[in-house]
Amino acid sequence: MTTSFETGETSMAPAFVEKRPIERYAAPAQPSLVGMTREALAESLGAVGVPERQCRMRVQQIWHWLYVRGARDFDAMTTLSKDLRAALARRFTLARPEVAAEQVSVDGTRKWLLRLPGEVENAPHEVECVYIPETDRGTLCISSQVGCTLHCTFCHTGTQRLVRNLTAAEIVAQVVLARDRLGDWLAAEPASAEEPGRGGRDPEKRLVSNIVMMGMGEPLYNFEAVRDGLNVVADGDGLSISKRRITLSTSGVVPNIARTGAEIGCMLAISLHAVTDELRDQLVPLNRKYPLRELLDACRHYPGLSNARRITFEYVMLKGINDSLADAKALVRLLKGIPAKINLIPFNPWPGTKYECSDWEQIEKFSEIVFAAGYSSPVRTPRGRDILAACGQLKSATEKLSARERLALRAMAMTD
Ligand code: SAH
Ligand code: SF4
Repeated sequence: MTTSFETGETSMAPAFVEKRPIERYAAPAQPSLVGMTREALAESLGAVGVPERQCRMRVQQIWHWLYVRGARDFDAMTTLSKDLRAALARRFTLARPEVAAEQVSVDGTRKWLLRLPGEVENAPHEVECVYIPETDRGTLCISSQVGCTLHCTFCHTGTQRLVRNLTAAEIVAQVVLARDRLGDWLAAEPASAEEPGRGGRDPEKRLVSNIVMMGMGEPLYNFEAVRDGLNVVADGDGLSISKRRITLSTSGVVPNIARTGAEIGCMLAISLHAVTDELRDQLVPLNRKYPLRELLDACRHYPGLSNARRITFEYVMLKGINDSLADAKALVRLLKGIPAKINLIPFNPWPGTKYECSDWEQIEKFSEIVFAAGYSSPVRTPRGRDILAACGQLKSATEKLSARERLALRAMAMTD
């Protein structure tokens, strides 16, 4: 992304290290167990001849190796018999998605470009996954689709031609991959100073503690896979990221909002971005199908909603479009009565966009009105422009995260 950032891109941009060049990706010949649900694992075990009555126990054992230990080799699965390990290795792999590029920032932010099986007209299927460390948590921003069928006018993902749904396993695999790359698995013994690499992490000190589904794609247009994938991620015997620490962001697919609460039970974020149907119709064209009134009604009835479990409303700051102080007041009025958090996201420009990010002073004035209405400070200015980041529209293999992108991503990820 060639972002022009007026304060001086070169000095602000973090030093990213390109770890791997892009290579052509050949889909693995055998299926991988990584990312599978319990049901899929049980089926796979059946396929290698594990008797029905043993299946539950074997699934539980493999689950632990896959999602607690991060095993990369069947031989590491020492609670399974040698024969079973060999049978599994003949039919399956423990492969992760191909990492086409990895970028590491000086402040610890990491971005991975993942190449998934499939290719159309020489365009590979690629998604991005970004890890943002903070003092009290580490947030992983994951994708639900390659591209997006919705065409929000300010979003780069919506301009991409290629669209396909990720499978549940590909959704889970993003978390597995992040834990691999961060050395974030629990090992049999605690990490030791003498042998760094040997031990593992204390569960309390896991690096990936939060998930936001704010990467590429509209998760509620890939509902079943997102549901199944997030339920694997939240499983307390496995990856164990609590549903209170998982936030799904939607542009407003109203019929699936109640299902999200009932069948996933994660936190919800709504990409609101405008306070009138007239403007939202332009910015988020899905609004023509599900207008504001219906969207906010669905939010009011979101299962489990309370002051302790608020909905996050995302509001991208577009200069001269939705950033007037009258808009700020209307925003506060519109959300009255809904337990809400408001997240102001600095617009992250991309080549060819007609929008600009609001001026910093305007964002501050806007946020003061929101703050005065009782919402916690939505944009955190102190760490400022040099530390923040954006995903959603970041699919670009070799580009570095600009200061603007980082600002936008950090704002998106701040859901509690
Ligand atoms: N499709 C879902 C989730 C992915 S987008 C959704 O729309 O909610 C994640 C967030 O990034 C959304 O709030 C989206 O509106 C925002 N976003 C998209 N493009 C952006 C840009 N260029 N600058 C800042 N935020 C952007
Ligand atoms: Fe799709 Fe979300 Fe981008 Fe809209 S903002 S085009 S729904 S990814």
